Amino acid sequence: MKLIILGSGTAVPLLERNCAGYLLEAGNRKILLDTGAGTIRRLLEVKADLFEIDNIFYTHLHNDHINDLGAIIWSNNYGGIRKRALNIYGPYGLKKYCRALIKKLLKPTKLHFDFIIEELKNSEIKIGNIKIKTQQIKHSPATKSIAYRIEHGNKSLVYTGDTEYCSETIKISRNADVVLTECSFPDSKKVEGHLTPSLAGKIAKQANVKRLVLTHFYPDVLKTGIKKEACKEFKGDIVLAKDKMVLNI
Ligand SMILES: [Zn+2]
Ligand SMILES: [Zn+2]
Repeated sequence: MKLIILGSGTAVPLLERNCAGYLLEAGNRKILLDTGAGTIRRLLEVKADLFEIDNIFYTHLHNDHINDLGAIIWSNNYGGIRKRALNIYGPYGLKKYCRALIKKLLKPTKLHFDFIIEELKNSEIKIGNIKIKTQQIKHSPATKSIAYRIEHGNKSLVYTGDTEYCSETIKISRNADVVLTECSFPDSKKVEGHLTPSLAGKIAKQANVKRLVLTHFYPDVLKTGIKKEACKEFKGDIVLAKDKMVLNI
């Protein structure tokens, strides 16, 4: 599998760190994990074709993770005239969100493609030979959040989205080759519902993962020694995500 970081940033606008978005290539398929604002632009920058992507997975409905969905629907409807279905997956609430987005905001005269929405809890689905497991995790009381474990061949990637330190996130991450998780705030300024470098390290240690990829950095954490804090807990490989970084799994 190949993971391309499209957005290692957050709600804070930063030119070099887009809102959350990741492209995963597994076999001959490309899937998106979250699509915060600017995802379409980053896809162009990494020379990936939006119209070749048939499956998008959302961890939760916070705007820094889903904001480009409207633009993606619009582009597929008028910018490329999609023929194949577009499948999107996410937590409970995604259907209601999409209904409002399409019927009340976008209001296309006609949707030219099948738009299929699936709400997932603790589920297991397959796309070709890619196996995807989901796990509800703790993040925000206002929105449900799910983490994804994607397995292809004998490799596994876990993407947690935004998460609090919790047993559910450790469970889905167990023995994964790569865990891509958030690292929003420094240890000295922990915010409820988010991880710090040492908490992300603790999850990686407790889940016995091989490689920890940290992402979703608010500006304050970027001023600190992220790796130094994380490796106090986790002795394996730690990578700090950057936009357009490519990781082979
Ligand atoms: Zn969030
Ligand atoms: Zn976020």
